[in-house]
Amino acid sequence: MDPQEVVETSEPHLVDRVVILEPREVPLGGPRAMTVRRTLPQRARSLIGAWCFVDHYGPNDVTARNGMLVPPHPHTGLQTVSWLFAGEVDHRDSVGSHALVRPGELNLMTAGSGIAHSEVSGETTTVLHGAQLWIALPDSARNGHPFFERYVPGPISIGAATARVFIGSLAGSTSTARVFTGLVGAQLDVPAGVTVVIPVDPAFEHGVLVDAGDLTLDDTAVPVTHLAYRAPGATQLVLTAGESAATVLLIGGVPLGERIVMWWNFIGRSHEDIVRFREDWQTEVIAGGNDEGRFGRVRGYDGPSLPAPELPNVRLTPRG
Ligand code: MN
Repeated sequence: MDPQEVVETSEPHLVDRVVILEPREVPLGGPRAMTVRRTLPQRARSLIGAWCFVDHYGPNDVTARNGMLVPPHPHTGLQTVSWLFAGEVDHRDSVGSHALVRPGELNLMTAGSGIAHSEVSGETTTVLHGAQLWIALPDSARNGHPFFERYVPGPISIGAATARVFIGSLAGSTSTARVFTGLVGAQLDVPAGVTVVIPVDPAFEHGVLVDAGDLTLDDTAVPVTHLAYRAPGATQLVLTAGESAATVLLIGGVPLGERIVMWWNFIGRSHEDIVRFREDWQTEVIAGGNDEGRFGRVRGYDGPSLPAPELPNVRLTPRG
């Protein structure tokens, strides 16, 4: 596509246009890293509502090599959403949670002022396929206590499509998962040759990530693995699957209206916030042994925690 098209996203007259955001390949941390496709953040767009990070991976055959193997690492100021299409991921965190993330089941970790977790694909997993998304916490919630929750949405029908609403509300289905700004997140499965009209909140901006199949959003073809963006103002999204059935993730929300600083696994509001979070992680956990600090300890993970990378030599600046 024409890269100029991406640069124009912030212009308000593009309300009715679908903007296609391309993925880039990024290795996950660790020496036996798995590669993911990142569509958010990118130069053209930092946020969709409070959604601030979209990593999409697989389907990967993980029988011959390691799948996901992410040692304990910290988060601040955000929620992590784990959503799988295939395989299993073993989650452990420093508030004592131990959960198996399975397809169709939301695992939501709210970092608040600080949490640590590890993510390892299950021993019996042969194919790993899913997404990890982050939600930026608003300033009013970013210093709260960390917690973890699960929610299994019952599938609903929207026309001939099937929806699993894991965050917020859509077409009468409401997730119990706790969020702090107006948000929606759902898996939509659209059969081949079918058009569905999804009613949406016009106060929200939306993103449609195509996991598989031929998908057209409001008359714009969206290539597989790409993220289509629509600005606030739409009361409905029209999704059409072509010759093959389409599976998509729909994300959306009220524009956050706050500028955030995002670096490594931290979200803050200033360069100084990030320096402090990094220092706390390095002194409490990497240098050793303070279970009572900001991040706590991930129990049951056999191996060392991930040290933070060096900070860049320039000041981190807010975006969004
Ligand atoms: Mn993480």
